[in-house]
Amino acid sequence: MASPVAIAAQAGKLLRAQALRPRLLAVRSQAGHLTPRRWLNLQEYQSKKLMSEHGVRVQRFFVASTAKEALEAAKRLNAKEIVLKAQILAGGRGKGVFNSGLKGGVHLTKDPKVVGQLAQQMIGYNLATKQTPKEGVKVNKVMVAEALDISRETYLAILMDRSFNGPVIVGSPQGGVDIEEVAAKSPELIFKEQIDIFEGIKDSQAQRMAENLGFLGPLKHQAADQIKKLYHLFLKIDATQVEVNPFGETPEGQVVCFDAKINFDDNAEFRQKEIFAMDDKSENEPIENEAARYDLKYIGLDGNIACFVNGAGLAMATCDIIFLNGGKPANFLDLGGGVKESQVYQAFKLLTSDPKVEAILVNIFGGIVNCAIIANGITKACRELELKVPLVVRLEGTNVQEAQKILKSSGLPITPAKDLEDAAKKAVASVAKK
Ligand code: GDP
Ligand code: MN
Repeated sequence: MASPVAIAAQAGKLLRAQALRPRLLAVRSQAGHLTPRRWLNLQEYQSKKLMSEHGVRVQRFFVASTAKEALEAAKRLNAKEIVLKAQILAGGRGKGVFNSGLKGGVHLTKDPKVVGQLAQQMIGYNLATKQTPKEGVKVNKVMVAEALDISRETYLAILMDRSFNGPVIVGSPQGGVDIEEVAAKSPELIFKEQIDIFEGIKDSQAQRMAENLGFLGPLKHQAADQIKKLYHLFLKIDATQVEVNPFGETPEGQVVCFDAKINFDDNAEFRQKEIFAMDDKSENEPIENEAARYDLKYIGLDGNIACFVNGAGLAMATCDIIFLNGGKPANFLDLGGGVKESQVYQAFKLLTSDPKVEAILVNIFGGIVNCAIIANGITKACRELELKVPLVVRLEGTNVQEAQKILKSSGLPITPAKDLEDAAKKAVASVAKK
């Protein structure tokens, strides 16, 4: 048997591999929230549409879902040069590779016919970048835009920063490239402006950032104006992050947002209905979408023990302890905070629909949730779904005695566990017996 350290490392690798996916990253970074929900991400073309509606300068563009549409779009643009960009939620597309063999998710060409040919090798294929899983992400759409010459690439982002208790504008004259690398190698080239959310962005702040980014003369005023507009957009749409890399200048003297990445605060969904209606769920697994319909979070893994937990922290602890006991998790389903009985039923339905699942481990800590509600949901689901796989349940916390009574008196073949270790051992043993 491998050492616990090796196993933990393996589990960690698994989680890191999963975390590469931007949406799952969001899931993990929200571990501290009571009712965790996925953060909405938009595709570049959707973000740029919002930007242009708010006076932010982006290139003229069309969106295409087929090579033929891309060719037509390129002709209609009637531009000196065209830039064709694969639309996926991950960054680093420029240096990505398609499983069609094509290199680069961003291409410049003067010939509309070439746009058609390149789009043919993009749409329907997977694009792998530094930020995607190894196998890449399927490209369903491409952006066909008027290319502009770039004389200088800078970096600009506006984000909600916990350490400042509010919005911060982050910029660097060293844009276009990997900003983490700039931050690591030349931290003196990263500039920050903390914004008082009540007072808003001051002209002097926008000017100072423009200057730090290296914009000179009239370009400085233009850049400051763009920064202010981006800040107003950030507030108006309840964004948690607006990132523009490159925030560039052209030889003709224009400041242009060449790329765009916007994340949103899901708690603002109620007042941002139009934006949330744009949610492109095509990069999700169908089961993730189904889970999201019931406010549940699903993360697929490749083992055989389904984990039904509340909270991302407990999910990771459960994963680790299953590994330590020689098992492998098939997935997590995270219930979050305020749980309803119907959600428990839906959760079981989802978990058992996965043919890999050979046992289910419920590990719920009832802090806010009442364990009796979970127990009632479990017994109901077991009866209605005629559960065929072993079920190990560890409940702890609020109203746990009542919950245990419900489980015991149900007459169902449920294996109770006294703690997490016990639960993991029993789940692993039930799979090994098969
Ligand atoms: P990313 O790789 O996913 O961040 O995609 P970007 O949209 O940032 O494009 C990658 C790189 O392509 C940019 O850093 C630019 O250097 C280049 N690029 C993108 N659009 C244009 C354009 O219109 N003109 C020129 N000359 N370069 C562009
Ligand atoms: Mn970029």
